[in-house]
Amino acid sequence: RASVGPKYLSGLNPEQREAVETLDGPVLVLAGAGTGKTRVLTTRIAHILSQGRARPSEILSVTFTNKAAREMKHRLGLMLGHAVEGMPWLGTFHSIGGRILRTHAELAQLKSNFTVLDVDDQVRLLKQLLQAENIDDKRWPARMLAGLIDGWKNRGLMPSQVPPGEAAVFGNGKGGKLYASYQERLKILNAADFGDLLLEDIRIFREHPDILRQYQQRFKYILVDEYQDTNVAQYLWLRLLSQAPSSFTSPRVRGEVASRRDAGEGDSPSTELLETAPHPDPLPVKDGEREKSPHTKNICCVGDDDQSIYGWRGAEVDNILRFDHDFPGAKVIRLERNYRSTGHILAAASHLIAHNEGRLGKTLRTEDQDGEKVTVTGSWDSEEEARGIGEEIEQLQRQGEKLNEIAILVRASYQMREFEDRFVTLGLPYRVIGGPRFYERAEIRDALAYLRVINSPADDLAFERIVNVPKRGLGDATVQMLHDHARKRRIPLFEAARAVVETDELKPKARGSLRDVVAQFDRWRAQREITAHTDLAQIVLDESGYTEMWQKDRSADAAGRLENLKELVRSMEEFENLQGFLEHISLVMDRDGGAEDDAVSLMTLHSAKGLEFDNVFLPGWEEGLFPSQRTLDEQGRAGLEEERRLGHVGLTRARRRAKIYFATNRRIHGTWSTTIPSRFLDELPAANVEITESKGGSAWGGTGGYGASRFDDMEAFGSSYTTPGWQRAQANRSQANRNRGQATGQGRDGGGFEEAASSFSSSSSSP
Ligand code: ATP
Ligand code: MG
Repeated sequence: RASVGPKYLSGLNPEQREAVETLDGPVLVLAGAGTGKTRVLTTRIAHILSQGRARPSEILSVTFTNKAAREMKHRLGLMLGHAVEGMPWLGTFHSIGGRILRTHAELAQLKSNFTVLDVDDQVRLLKQLLQAENIDDKRWPARMLAGLIDGWKNRGLMPSQVPPGEAAVFGNGKGGKLYASYQERLKILNAADFGDLLLEDIRIFREHPDILRQYQQRFKYILVDEYQDTNVAQYLWLRLLSQAPSSFTSPRVRGEVASRRDAGEGDSPSTELLETAPHPDPLPVKDGEREKSPHTKNICCVGDDDQSIYGWRGAEVDNILRFDHDFPGAKVIRLERNYRSTGHILAAASHLIAHNEGRLGKTLRTEDQDGEKVTVTGSWDSEEEARGIGEEIEQLQRQGEKLNEIAILVRASYQMREFEDRFVTLGLPYRVIGGPRFYERAEIRDALAYLRVINSPADDLAFERIVNVPKRGLGDATVQMLHDHARKRRIPLFEAARAVVETDELKPKARGSLRDVVAQFDRWRAQREITAHTDLAQIVLDESGYTEMWQKDRSADAAGRLENLKELVRSMEEFENLQGFLEHISLVMDRDGGAEDDAVSLMTLHSAKGLEFDNVFLPGWEEGLFPSQRTLDEQGRAGLEEERRLGHVGLTRARRRAKIYFATNRRIHGTWSTTIPSRFLDELPAANVEITESKGGSAWGGTGGYGASRFDDMEAFGSSYTTPGWQRAQANRSQANRNRGQATGQGRDGGGFEEAASSFSSSSSSP
């Protein structure tokens, strides 16, 4: 194909171009990291618009994070050279699902200003339900139930559809019943949880074909990034929206669920995609919905089975493997050129992932230079690791590298604190992405609770949170009384309060306090109409006594909290009104503090998906941390393979430098333990890896030797790589250690390195 055409097409390779220009029918771009899948999606939107195929509002584009959505909008603007008028529906499944649900809230027994609960609210609510059912919260923790319900929702299961066997695992068989009463409570509270944002849409679509048809007609083009990480609910939602309206027949609502395998019975499954990697454990899906539909619309999904890392949250790589079955006539396009990483990095990543069995297998090549080898560095402990990485970052900075192009990707979020501490000491600017969020701090949640009650008087959880904050003499007894009252009359707590202050059920002092609270909220609600929402927030914080409460507080962090409250009010300026702001808060999955500033990014491997940086640091490659202990304890390979994909995702984020670390001692959940370097290090190709000394300075001073002993067992290193440290380790080998290595099942390839590890740990004392 000649490279004539619009400017935005000119940089694309022929396969990418085909993916952009195949506008009719289903398209799957199945390709490895950094091959330009996301770029293809963005270009495709630009192409649809500039060809006049659809108006912006007729395009639905789903990204994995809010950050990715913003990025896509930005790129789109650049490609089209002008601001797009009327933006496409561009956002996460949650944000778009929520937008649709708000439009039809009444069909889900909600009001359009419903609150989106976060996990904390969810757990509080479930605790109340457990109490009401006399279920022991210690034996059956509310968090566990929250996890179960979340899992069911991810699989598109309403309370009536939960398989009895699964409902039985909680609270002596009461799991299903609790799920049902939880849903009822949500309606009364005018609230939804994250799962509902899609599940309620699906229900509405099924029960109201006319509404579904409206959306089917509206969305002429549907685009989905990171398709390998969609779960069943997301799949069902997409599937409903992507059927051409003309093919619409009345939806099948069946009580029972059938497995996907059954649903596909009679059809010959997708030949090319399925043969190589059948999904071992298909999850239930409604019967009719896996049927072939001849009229699928223009849906384009992009993804990479090797980057499927959300299996633990219900994502189903099966969705991508079955794409051409689900969307018949799909064109499958493969991209093989990686534009992101240098040769060594790409080779290391490809070699690592090749150890997985369940994969389609892909070719990836780069025309880039080999660049620097991937480095592997051992440290004494995690503190030395953080110190070493801190120094390397400063060194990169001196060489003129931008901090924005440096990321530290951790396996577990607790690893972050050490880096945060280090960066604060060094005065190195950093930001935490997707981490412990600003909006989750106690003072912020209190302030938000006030705003939520103003926005939605039925928001009982919010009301309960602040009714006695600051202290007003409205203790548990009062709240309990309000609860009784509210339950009897089926009214919100706030309304119960309004009614109770007219009676003499409360002692005069409490009654006076409560009356003031009700009056204040009434006043604030009236003010809302005439006052800017930022001003209103300040007024609320001041008049409620909340600001004063922290001003009087003597604890060390009070000043910080006041700062945070100021920052909260400031952050509201970016939104048109209170409703918009509160909606944003509930949807923000990824925080990006001061995106403009030059700062190191700190995040988990999971939140690094889709991103790229020149320099990527990968600390903590140790057995029990990465791969995680949970996957090591598990039967079967599935969990371990997902961990390996996570490693692959981590490495492929890097453009020019990838630096891996492991520490020999690490404190996990408060206790120190000696660790063993990750098996994934064994799986890296020697030719692309260099072992370096820690720059963290060590009391131990044996890092290089240790690393070498480790790599004696690397498949590609062979025995040619020796250092004195390695020889020392060899000399220390003992039968006892050999037995230990075999007993733990870690001693693959002869178990030599584990012996080295244990001999080291026995010759040096743990901190
Ligand atoms: P991931 O699987 O990690 O999400 P991806 O396949 O979505 O990766 P992109 O992020 O779209 O890949 O692209 C990776 C990098 O390569 C980006 O910096 C992108 O701008 C660049 N790129 C993609 N295609 C081309 C091209 N044809 N010419 C030059 N650069 C390209
Ligand atoms: Mg991408």
